[in-house]
Amino acid sequence: MKPRQRPSPAQRLRNMHGLLEQAYGPQHWWPAETPFEVILGAYLTQNTAWKAVERSLANLRQAGALTLDGLRSIALEDLQNLIRPSGFHTRKAPALKAFVAMLDREFSSSLDVFAASPTATLRPRLLALPGVGPETADAILLYALNHPVPVADEYLRRVALRHRLLAPPPGPAGYDSLVDLTRQAFAVDPSVSSSRLFNQFHALTVAVGKAHCARTPHCTGCPLAADLQFVTPAVVKDAKRK
Ligand code: SF4
Repeated sequence: MKPRQRPSPAQRLRNMHGLLEQAYGPQHWWPAETPFEVILGAYLTQNTAWKAVERSLANLRQAGALTLDGLRSIALEDLQNLIRPSGFHTRKAPALKAFVAMLDREFSSSLDVFAASPTATLRPRLLALPGVGPETADAILLYALNHPVPVADEYLRRVALRHRLLAPPPGPAGYDSLVDLTRQAFAVDPSVSSSRLFNQFHALTVAVGKAHCARTPHCTGCPLAADLQFVTPAVVKDAKRK
C-alpha cells in the first residue's frame, strides 16, 4: 500500500482555515462603518492595540474629522491631539494628511476613483506613501477597497512559524512569503470570491491568535491543535518559545 502523502504547507493552511471557520464562524470584519474609517483604522492600529485606536476614532468622530472632508480641513496639530491615544501621533498625523493629499492630487479627491484603479497600480502607490508598510497597504486594499489581496500579520506569522509552514528565521518567514503561502492556500477554490476568503481568513487568524496563539501559546483546546500532528514534538517545543 502506498504511504499517505503528507499535505503541503498550503494545503495545511487551507485546512486550518476550515478548522477555524468551524470553531469561530463568520467574522464580518473590519470593525468600521465606512471605507474611509477602515483606512484611518489601518494607519492608527500600527504598533497599537485596537482599544487605543477606538479612543482615537471616537475623538475624530466627535470632532467631525472621521470623513475625507473632515480630515482634509483639520489642522495638523489638532489631528495629532485627537489621535494621541493610539500613539506615534506625530508620525501618524502627517501620514494621514499625505494620504488625503495623494487622493486629492491624483484620484480626483475620490475614494471611489481610487478603489476603481487596478491593484497593481494601487499597491505600489500606497507603499510609496509615508507610514505605509505592506500590512497597512494590504489591509486598506482588502478591507476599504475590496481588492483581493491577503493580509499577513503577526498572528499569522506566529501560527505559520509554530506549525513550521514556513522555515523559521533566517528562513523565508517574511511578509511576502506569508502572502505567497496564503495565495497558494486559497488558489484551490476559484469559485469563491478571494476578497471574502482573505477577509474571513485574516479575521480568523486574529481570533485564534487572541484566544490561543499569543506570545505564549495555549495549544490545549486550540482549534488548530490537530495540525500539530505534522510538526515533530521537538519543533513544537522550540516553536512555543517564539
Ligand atoms: S496555540 Fe498551539 S495549536 Fe494553536 S495555533 Fe498556536 S501553536 Fe498552534
